[in-house]
Amino acid sequence: GRDRILYSEKLNVASELAASVSHEIRNPLTVTNGFLQLLAKSQTVTEQEKRYINLSLLELKRAEKIVSDYLSFAKPQSENMVYSNMREEVDYTHEIIMPYALLHNVDVRLTFNNTLKAHYDRNQITQCLINLYKNGIEAMTEKGGGTLLIDISEKKQNIMVRIEDTGIGMTNEEISHLYKPRYSTKEEGTGLGMLMVYSTLNKVKGNIEVHSEKGKGTTFLLTIPASTVETFEMNKK
Ligand code: ADP
Ligand code: MG
Repeated sequence: GRDRILYSEKLNVASELAASVSHEIRNPLTVTNGFLQLLAKSQTVTEQEKRYINLSLLELKRAEKIVSDYLSFAKPQSENMVYSNMREEVDYTHEIIMPYALLHNVDVRLTFNNTLKAHYDRNQITQCLINLYKNGIEAMTEKGGGTLLIDISEKKQNIMVRIEDTGIGMTNEEISHLYKPRYSTKEEGTGLGMLMVYSTLNKVKGNIEVHSEKGKGTTFLLTIPASTVETFEMNKK
């Protein structure tokens, strides 16, 4: 309806902004990186100084990664398009979130029962899942840990992704801000994670449902319409 149209207009502005922010941040990172590389080659640099330079280079790399992680949806990446049942992305993201979960005393439980396939951008779905898992885990830190349920199943012609945490939950007021760019209740939050999730679901013509209870926890339910190979081949022509 009307809300949907208004939202996608907002989204266009947001992704344009994201694209330019991404660009503006990458430039100084590249310049700094170059000067540090030069310094590292200097004859007068001590071993200790070389260590500091290398640490700075690693930190720069991390900053660059954050930029690409959060803002990669700003550019079209058709080369990452796959036709799959999400198994690979779910297994991969489960694996890379484990150290973060362990660190926060979070028990991750994964169930996968899906045979349906959809067309999606592998990087975007990966990023989307990680953003949701991270938020779930971060919502449980105040409580000293908890359980993160990840359940992938199928229903009619849809892939259903359920991500459930036992964290601090949200009020309806908080839920209403969820997808707004830069909305964050965290000290070092970017407020871009959920926008990225929204954008990804929008691209696969899917849907996001949120159920949350303050103090109890939150459930995200993603619906991704499956497609058949025949449709894929038709679209390709
Ligand atoms: P960030 O994580 O950087 O704060 P996000 O866009 O990922 O930004 O999330 C925006 C805000 O939505 C969070 O700061 C938090 O207040 C709220 N939020 C998102 N996911 C959850 C969750 N699972 N439980 C509670 N609050 C959440
Ligand atoms: Mg986040």
